[in-house]
Order: sequence, then structure tokens, then C-alpha cells
Amino acid sequence: MNGKSMAAGCMAAAATVAAGNVLATAAIRTTGLGIMKKLPDKNGIALTFDDGPHPVYTARLLDVLKQHGVRATFFVIGEKVEAYPWLLKRMREDGHEIGIHHYKHRSAWRLTPRALRNQLELTDRAIRKASGMVPRLYRPPWGRLSPYTLTVAKDYETLIWSHIFGDWKTANCSGLAKRLKCVPADGSIVLLHDDGSNPGADEAAPASMIRELDLYLHAAVRDGIPFVTAEGSPVHEH
Ligand SMILES: [Zn+2]
Repeated sequence: MNGKSMAAGCMAAAATVAAGNVLATAAIRTTGLGIMKKLPDKNGIALTFDDGPHPVYTARLLDVLKQHGVRATFFVIGEKVEAYPWLLKRMREDGHEIGIHHYKHRSAWRLTPRALRNQLELTDRAIRKASGMVPRLYRPPWGRLSPYTLTVAKDYETLIWSHIFGDWKTANCSGLAKRLKCVPADGSIVLLHDDGSNPGADEAAPASMIRELDLYLHAAVRDGIPFVTAEGSPVHEH
């Protein structure tokens, strides 16, 4: 095989892998096989927060949740857990649930099975060390699944969301409280973000999200909407 046809072959192979990833994500998301998009048989709403912990925004968010007596689920980035372990301790003390996002915010589409396993193991370890909790839940960044995600992540419940608001952009947070009001309390899983440092996100967007969430919770708690953590409550290890 000459250089040119080898390069063409490699490109074709890469295209096949990329198509496989997209198809796997579409197929799994459409059929819902092996992943959770809603809490089955649950009365209530599960608020979930991705991409933290962040030293300013996660701390502020924890204050707001506490003020309203609401428990939630955090999908954390392993390297940030290692940087701010006290926030994980607070999450546990306040009765929140903690799940795995990835060790770094990398797409599963760009990870070999081994690299994906590594992302899960490192984050699992970081969560246990910081909080003493054993994570049971996994949410892949951007909800991207590869053909081997469910095998590699078989020890966890993989879940995505039923409601997404684009709150990583400050502009999208305007009127968020009103849009949250439309979420039905029938096992909906709401995706929000407590860190805005990923490419394409606004650094300060969580400040707007938290303000709107505070407004929403004020009315929702008064109206008796039940808030639940996502399934698979972590075991307290020590
Ligand atoms: Zn994320």
C-alpha cells in the first residue's frame, strides 16, 4: 500500500469510528436501552448539575439549595474534585448525591475503551477520597456515548436528562425560572451547569443560572413540588 492509499485508508477507518460513535449515541438515546433519561415511577423532579465543582459557583449553589431544603445530584469532573475536595464534603453533608462526569471534560467519542475506563476510575477514586461516598451514577460529557460506553461503565447507572436549557450561555439563562416552571414533576431529570469553563460556555453563566434557580425554587417549594436525587443513592463508605 502506498502512502496515499494508506492515508485514505486511515481516513476511512477514522470516518467509520466517528460514524460508529454517532450511531451508538443516537441508537442508545432513541431506544433508551441501558441509559436513563427519566426516573422511572418517581413523583418529583431531579435537579442535576454538571461540570463542577467550582469554588465560587458550586459553593453559592449549595447555599441556595440548602436555603430551600432541596437535594440534588452533582456530576463532577475528577480533576476539579481533587482541587476542591471540601465542596464534595459539603455535598455529602447536605444530603446531595454525587455522580461521575469524567476526570477531564473529554468526549467519549475521542476516547479508547481503555482511556474511557481510566476517566471513570480516576473520578470514582477522587469522589471516594474527597467525600467518602461510592458513586453509582455516570453521565458522559455532552451525553455522548461510544459503542463500548455501556460495557466500560457497567458498574454504574448511565443517565442523561429529560430537560436541557443551554444554561452554559448567559443569554440562555434569561427567563430560565419561567421555563423551569414548565418541567413536570413526574420523574423529570433537569440538566444545569455549575461551572462555565468549558469551550463554548460563558465563564459567568452559572451566576445567572443560580439566580434564576433561586427564583424558581422559591415558588416551586412553596407549591409543594417534590425534589429528589437521581436514582442509585451512593453508599456512605465511612
Ligand atoms: Zn459536561
